[in-house]
Amino acid sequence: MITQTQINILRSEKIAPQQLFIDGKTVTGNAEPMQVISPIDGSDLTTIANATEAEVGLAAASARTAFNDGRWSNLPPSKRKKILFAIADGIEAEALSLSILGVRDNGTEFNMAFKAEAGSAAGTFRYYAEALDKMTGEIAPTASNTLGLVHHEPVGVVGAIIPWNFPLMIGAWKLAPALATGNSVILKPAETASLSLLRLAQIASAAGLPDGVFNVVTGDGRIAGDALARSMDVDVLAFTGSGLTGRKLLEASAQSNLKRVYLELGGKSPNIVFADAPNLDEAAKVSVAAIFRNSGQVCVAGSRLLVERSIHDDFITALKIHAEAMRVGDPLDLQTQIGAVNSESQLKNNLAITAAAISEGADCITGGERILGQTGGSYMAPTILKNVLRTNTVFKTEVFGPVLAVTPFDTQEEAITLANDSNLGLAAGVWTANLSRAHRMIRAVQAGVIHVNTYGGADNTVPLGGHKQSGNGSDKSLHALSKYTNLKTAWIQL
Ligand code: ADP
Repeated sequence: MITQTQINILRSEKIAPQQLFIDGKTVTGNAEPMQVISPIDGSDLTTIANATEAEVGLAAASARTAFNDGRWSNLPPSKRKKILFAIADGIEAEALSLSILGVRDNGTEFNMAFKAEAGSAAGTFRYYAEALDKMTGEIAPTASNTLGLVHHEPVGVVGAIIPWNFPLMIGAWKLAPALATGNSVILKPAETASLSLLRLAQIASAAGLPDGVFNVVTGDGRIAGDALARSMDVDVLAFTGSGLTGRKLLEASAQSNLKRVYLELGGKSPNIVFADAPNLDEAAKVSVAAIFRNSGQVCVAGSRLLVERSIHDDFITALKIHAEAMRVGDPLDLQTQIGAVNSESQLKNNLAITAAAISEGADCITGGERILGQTGGSYMAPTILKNVLRTNTVFKTEVFGPVLAVTPFDTQEEAITLANDSNLGLAAGVWTANLSRAHRMIRAVQAGVIHVNTYGGADNTVPLGGHKQSGNGSDKSLHALSKYTNLKTAWIQL
């Protein structure tokens, strides 16, 4: 059991200025470092290096050399496996301090971060460590005088650009399968969530990962991230973040070496509640958590709630009660259920979209404002907007904040039309006790993951990836391994 006293001791530890991690060593960046501000109270936490194009080039060269000389790519799978397990053990051994470091940096409530960050990342490393020596090639059913062999080879150098909402969890989703298949990796964390990933590089190195196989370049996405996307040494780019940046990465790939680009670009996920849901109060409670945990900064957040009109008003009442009961505040307080918004700019964006929704005719039934201003941190009250029309901006635009848009519907057909009225298609939820309806909805709703009579939650065994403009290529599960491998056919005349 973690106690508040343990957290309080670790939360005030001084954090040294952070450097780049290239070729197994810390490297001092040449550019002016970036200040790291904690969204908990607006305090200066430390600085991170602002990697230049040349420094990203050094990391890429180091990753390329490590790949080419086979120090990792040619290790017997049993040895690679042992090191990935050791990384998982290292993460677990430091789970508490890693989680607290991450929370000080990005503001996620500790209760969620401890499980979803360190706990989940360790599990992801174990999952791919276990998988890596179970993958085999194929012998194709060719004519008897030929032999067709299908090899799965590592692509070479993988660039991973990571967002700020769950840096360790999402970082591990890309890093672990890429390393398991023998690649070298250069990881670019988000400006406002680099600290735990820099620590992960040290843990991996101590676990025996050879130098150059895992490099971390921090700093401005428009410089360091862009340099990674344009690098001629990067073969695959794996990204989670905004659609705007995703488009830039595709352009950068086209303008450089046509590297493969995998994108996970968030969603505007419909959570659909039918009047025949098995337990409406439970549905309301889970729907509230589905949008408000981590201040709505979850790519699969159920941000559009579609409610059958016959239960709409009662359901709104239940939503309001559950939302107002959630404790917003210091993310490092064990009682807190909703922590800080990641940054001041994110908070401003949330408030602006809320104001626009109200001006377009939506009714704000709770929240809609900044709170806890006296702390110096960035906090927003859980916000519920009702009477949101499909023409309203908030119906289509991902807020990535604690803002729920509620829209009533009359029929199943209308629910499907509303659910699919979005360019995005990452996740969805359906609440119904009718088995046939549940399966019909699973088929009809355009999304990468559909939750039935629950929302959120999953594990490494199932893929997570978007349909439509939410992206391509899934994280997690055995399917993710194919992102980091090339097929090679050997055609042999016997
Ligand atoms: P958000 O708007 O939620 O911060 P971004 O897509 O801007 O999402 O950020 C996600 C990640 O992409 C971060 O690591 C960020 O530094 C990086 N990034 C931002 N702009 C670019 C860019 N032009 N090229 C490459 N990476 C970028």
